Amino acid sequence: MMENALEPRTIVFASHNAHKVEEMRRICGPEFCLLSLADVGCTTDIPEDGDTLESNALAKARWVHEHYGVECFADDTGLEVDALGGRPGVHTARFAGPECDAAANVDLLLRLLDGRPDRTARFRTVVAHIAADGTERTFHGTCEGSIATGRSGAAGFGYDPVFVPAGRGCTFAQMTPEDKNAISHRGRATALLIDFLRNSL
Ligand code: IMP
Repeated sequence: MMENALEPRTIVFASHNAHKVEEMRRICGPEFCLLSLADVGCTTDIPEDGDTLESNALAKARWVHEHYGVECFADDTGLEVDALGGRPGVHTARFAGPECDAAANVDLLLRLLDGRPDRTARFRTVVAHIAADGTERTFHGTCEGSIATGRSGAAGFGYDPVFVPAGRGCTFAQMTPEDKNAISHRGRATALLIDFLRNSL
């Protein structure tokens, strides 16, 4: 069936994180109608216990495709800190423990880097897309930067108040959503997804 060119393309974004859903809606723009897990009535905490970002992103997207049979995508992000040997990496969400929140994660990161001059780091995102027919694709995005010595800014979420993207004198949390999305790990991976989707209409 031909898509109506004026109708936004509806895709499920496999996330319960309201901040991330809002950010992703901004990145994707009005061409796409993103339905969150809450929008499709899903309350399951989809397991993310893989040992790579790619396997976690694929697991979330596969879960939605298996249960709802629709086109969907999911992302998984890791923060790699060079002075910590690349940690927390795939464990970024639960860095300070299984029940921890963003504040506890950031506190632990600042404590581990206290007094250290080597603070380079990067965010990596993998976006996994599954078409209605089950075809799987992944898209990758990276944002280089460093960890500040304290929190600055109130925008964004997660580690944004302490992540300073390379070449900027401020944290992600001090940037407008548009400025963050133009250079962020998630913005870059999703731009590749959007490019693919535009060509697969
Ligand atoms: P997940 O990929 O949503 O599971 O995120 C993994 C961890 O990285 C969580 O602790 C998030 O808060 C954090 N995170 C993901 N994306 C960002 C971001 O764009 N800025 C800051 N923290 C993020």
